[in-house]
Amino acid sequence: MPQTDLIDKSKQPVNLLGLSPAQMEAFFESLGEKKFRATQVIKWIHQHGVEDIEQMTNISKPLREKLADLAEIRAPEVIADHLSQDGTRKWLIRVDGGSAVETVFIPEGERGTLCVSSQVGCSLDCSFCSTGKQGFNRDLTSAEIIGQVWIAAKAFDSLVPTSPRKVTNVVMMGMGEPLLNFDNSVAAMQLMLHDNAYGLSKRRVTLSTSGVVPELDRLADFVDVSLAISLHAPNDELRNQLVPINRKYPIKEFLRSANEYIAKMPDTHRKVTVEYTMMRNVNDRPEHAEQLAEVLKDTPCKINLIPFNPFPNSGYERVSNTSLQKFRDILYGKGYIVTVRTTRGDDIDAACGQLAGAVNDLTRRSARYKEQAQKAHVDTSIPMAAVDV
Ligand code: SAH
Ligand code: SF4
Repeated sequence: MPQTDLIDKSKQPVNLLGLSPAQMEAFFESLGEKKFRATQVIKWIHQHGVEDIEQMTNISKPLREKLADLAEIRAPEVIADHLSQDGTRKWLIRVDGGSAVETVFIPEGERGTLCVSSQVGCSLDCSFCSTGKQGFNRDLTSAEIIGQVWIAAKAFDSLVPTSPRKVTNVVMMGMGEPLLNFDNSVAAMQLMLHDNAYGLSKRRVTLSTSGVVPELDRLADFVDVSLAISLHAPNDELRNQLVPINRKYPIKEFLRSANEYIAKMPDTHRKVTVEYTMMRNVNDRPEHAEQLAEVLKDTPCKINLIPFNPFPNSGYERVSNTSLQKFRDILYGKGYIVTVRTTRGDDIDAACGQLAGAVNDLTRRSARYKEQAQKAHVDTSIPMAAVDV
């Protein structure tokens, strides 16, 4: 963000919640203040959950007044909060412009994973993804992305070290494609990693992408996190159908870029997580597993098999347990590390790919999707996680 934007009084107040550590320093420098003020304010916001500048007691009164004049701390508003029988919790979060996105918390023993959204809807239109069917509205701001972590941390009072429900991991696997909202996703991830903010290790922050190769190529210059790649098919012909961005950036290019990302990082033994959502009779056959093993042979990876989570009119069915096991065993046999993602929170539509939010669609895709479904004489309702927006 240019420094002049940070202090122009005729403009909207700066939302300090979304400033990365470097942007916060630039902001204080532009006020003629010392850099350590940035550290103080970041701690107040992200470690103490403070929204009111008045409460920042180690900052002098005149500076607090100046800040209150120029800046604000504005988190997005929670409009619904659902708890699943399995402990999964989902928040529906209102963002400016009349839309809503979803954030999901998944507790698993000691671990608490927060699944964060990066966009309102998604423009990439993967054929098996409910978010894609909602069309696209806009990018979330960095404050709206990190605001989801802030809301969850506050909800669990995770600032108390003994809290059993702490957010220990964050995955950028909610609604949207984070690499198409590059700057804001990067700023939010820098805060997740920063010691003065959430202090999560790079192993515990994961960016998932369906393959926006030019952006993945430059990611290493900005942030060092774990990488998950949404592959879903072992050949371009099939992937072109499931993940349309493959027509622009085919599998070979995507894997080249993912390999380079992990190779640029300082620690060796880094692995990419390969996500493979499994649909019955689509990508679940033994020959697909054989091809997958072949295609991944030069990529240090672990493979995460995700049984497809259904939503109305998707046109796909979940893989059968027998096919899933066979598929997994073939990959095991070739020496791969394979995990199978268990479905969590599906009673509250919080499972992967079920996140629909409430997208004020600017692309008309959701309308076209309804028309097609109506022609086929089927029910057109897409599950709105909570329609009481
Ligand atoms: N846009 C990014 C991140 C969000 S999608 C990406 O595509 O990677 C997060 C994960 O959920 C992806 O691996 C995606 O393929 C998976 N997913 C989408 N729809 C799904 C569904 N209906 N069932 C199971 N997983 C799904
Ligand atoms: Fe977008 Fe990811 Fe869904 Fe594809 S799977 S439509 S990239 S959110």
